[in-house]
Amino acid sequence: MSSKNLNPTCCCNESTSESSDCCNETIIIGFKEKTEPCPVCENNGMLVGSITVKHMVLDELVEQVLDDNYHLCTNEKCDIAYYNLKSNSTFETKDIKVPIWFKKDADPKYACYCNKITEDQVIKTVIEKGLTNMKDIVLGINGNMECHCKTKNPTGKCCSKVFNSIINKGLSIKNSKRNNITH
Ligand SMILES: [Zn+2]
Repeated sequence: MSSKNLNPTCCCNESTSESSDCCNETIIIGFKEKTEPCPVCENNGMLVGSITVKHMVLDELVEQVLDDNYHLCTNEKCDIAYYNLKSNSTFETKDIKVPIWFKKDADPKYACYCNKITEDQVIKTVIEKGLTNMKDIVLGINGNMECHCKTKNPTGKCCSKVFNSIINKGLSIKNSKRNNITH
């Protein structure tokens, strides 16, 4: 028996999506593309637009954000969040309004930034309510669903891929606990 979520959904639909390409698979795959290395840890980063960085940094730092693309350092151990090598402009994780979920010590760990839903909430909902699709889970927790990935998610892209991997994590926890449930 498979514990995988076979019907992944996304937070975005025509009525609320401000960016129809936020879930575009080729853009999401861009996460793994080789790009400019982080000036501190030298890991390759992920391309992020200026608009996303402007919405992520603390209000007093917005003016310092260039009208140019940045890279997001994807190394969980590195304190650098965004960097632009050409202009030597960098922002650290402490300069960002929300914890970046894949960085060490991220608290809370958001599964969906648009709807402010944490990894723990998703896992709990999968286990307790048996929901296995992103839309049902977001609606179950929040009652409504918003999509502003370009300005709310640190990557500027849709969280659906990460969200669905958390659903699968919840399902496997649920399956491993099954023997212990008495009711
Ligand atoms: Zn780094």
